[in-house]
Amino acid sequence: MCLLKNIICRKQFKLKKRSVLARYCEWYILYSIIGVLAKSPIAGVAYAPSNFSIILSAFGSTNEHIFKLIGNYKSEIFQKMFPFSNDFSKEGFVFLTTCAQPKSRGYIILKSNNYKTAPIINPNYLEHKYDIECTKKAVKVLKKLIDTKPFQKIGAKIHWPYIEECSQWRDEQGNNTENFLECLIRFCSMTGYHPAGTCAMGGQNDSNAVLDSFFRVNSIKNLRIVDGSVLPTPVSTFPNSIIAALADYASEIIQLTYPESE
Ligand SMILES: Cc1cc2nc3c(=O)[nH]c(=O)nc-3n(C[C@H](O)[C@H](O)[C@H](O)COP(=O)(O)OP(=O)(O)OC[C@H]3O[C@@H](n4cnc5c(N)ncnc54)[C@H](O)[C@@H]3O)c2cc1C
Repeated sequence: MCLLKNIICRKQFKLKKRSVLARYCEWYILYSIIGVLAKSPIAGVAYAPSNFSIILSAFGSTNEHIFKLIGNYKSEIFQKMFPFSNDFSKEGFVFLTTCAQPKSRGYIILKSNNYKTAPIINPNYLEHKYDIECTKKAVKVLKKLIDTKPFQKIGAKIHWPYIEECSQWRDEQGNNTENFLECLIRFCSMTGYHPAGTCAMGGQNDSNAVLDSFFRVNSIKNLRIVDGSVLPTPVSTFPNSIIAALADYASEIIQLTYPESE
């Protein structure tokens, strides 16, 4: 909400007094509901105590072009996931789930010694069985949630996309099997774009560490890295605030130690 306020206010009103600004924006967002940023599609976020989070997004239809750009979907898969995407009379909602601590590990390697050549980036999503298992667990929790009275009262039903390669994994009664769920997860998942760890910070004896604890690149003088790549493992779900805090911390370290440490 705060972020939305800031974005909309800065764009729409060039007022200087912050309190007036905040009031104006509250009114603007709550009552006028104008513009794409006036209403967040995220209706709620829940963290399961074990290992996954669930986001309830209040959109039933979504724009194919935008969603395909963000999710890197093939048209065919997108249309199976959102068969009514062009029909704005259809209501619905989407649950997104994510493993808080995924175990699959990707890599970045240099393709050549020419710095202009793009590196090879392989995120290796869903390579580790754990990531499949925790996503399956989340899907099962959501199925139970949809079966509860409040959701049944509004006629909620799960749309299981018909993916030919996965349908063979349903049992004779048409029920979901473990293999069916895994297949759907592999075909229909998209990334949350929260990678980390390619320039991990670590202690002196950590052979995987690229940086020391002052953000300095090991064995290279006068070079620091401050961004999401320094996190040794991905943070549970949303990383932006952590990265902002890291940047704040790094700027303090640099001010305190410069130039002695260089
Ligand atoms: C579609 C999408 C949705 C997301 N949603 C969320 C969310 O809801 N919540 C959340 O917490 N996180 C979200 N994230 C993740 C979050 O945006 C990233 O984790 C975070 O921005 C990473 O910060 P960073 O500083 O490491 O890198 P970046 O934010 O990517 O910053 C890198 C900067 O370096 C610049 N740059 C690149 N190359 C050069 C160069 N050669 N010279 C100079 N500058 C250069 C880039 O232009 C960019 O500004 C989302 C990401 C995506 C892609």
